Amino acid sequence: MKNLFFILFICLITTISFADSPKNNTLIECNAFIEGKFSGVEMKPIVESFYTWMNVSNSAIKISPPTEVQRAYFYKVMRHAINDPDQLDLDATRHPTVAWGGACSKDFFVIRVLSIDPIVRLIDNSKNSGDSDKQFGVLAYTFLGCRYKFIAVVADRIEDEEMFKSVILHELGHMWGLIDNEKGNMSIMNGVYPMSKCITKSDITDLYEAHKKNVPSNIKGCNP
Ligand SMILES: [Zn+2]
Repeated sequence: MKNLFFILFICLITTISFADSPKNNTLIECNAFIEGKFSGVEMKPIVESFYTWMNVSNSAIKISPPTEVQRAYFYKVMRHAINDPDQLDLDATRHPTVAWGGACSKDFFVIRVLSIDPIVRLIDNSKNSGDSDKQFGVLAYTFLGCRYKFIAVVADRIEDEEMFKSVILHELGHMWGLIDNEKGNMSIMNGVYPMSKCITKSDITDLYEAHKKNVPSNIKGCNP
């Protein structure tokens, strides 16, 4: 009988320690869909950025290997959203972390747009000029609806692979609920290009705080 209790005790301890394993550290688990229109050269920094976020966050962010989709599929999803304004959930866009609550979808699209795109022109001309470069105007933007989330990259304004990667890392930060960093320190979330080229410890701290989770003691991150 004593042995049975001992075994039960061991099982209990094992269960508790498994319950406390990294699974509990997961903030976001999602699928990514990338528009097939990106060239191979553009696709590389996009996919690399996914792995960078997963690695630096110690897998608190988990993205399934991306699926390539055609623009028509994305438009079908968007049309559905536009026909049903409740599903666009603008409140969630204004309050990024709301977009991650309840039954909201965690999956997102990355689409390729050009500077002639009407929404890009609209953002260029608005006061809050979004994620931009003084010379070129808006470089990318992130839309966070409850059901639908996407990152639009203004591909003809991105000069090289390094710039592509910084911009995608930044937009992914918005995707996880981070806002533009206006604290004055170097951060992947600096709103004006060039931002930090890497994810800093303060970005990871902000990530946990945005999700109202305790910041682990051993977080990774670069010193820019
Ligand atoms: Zn931004």
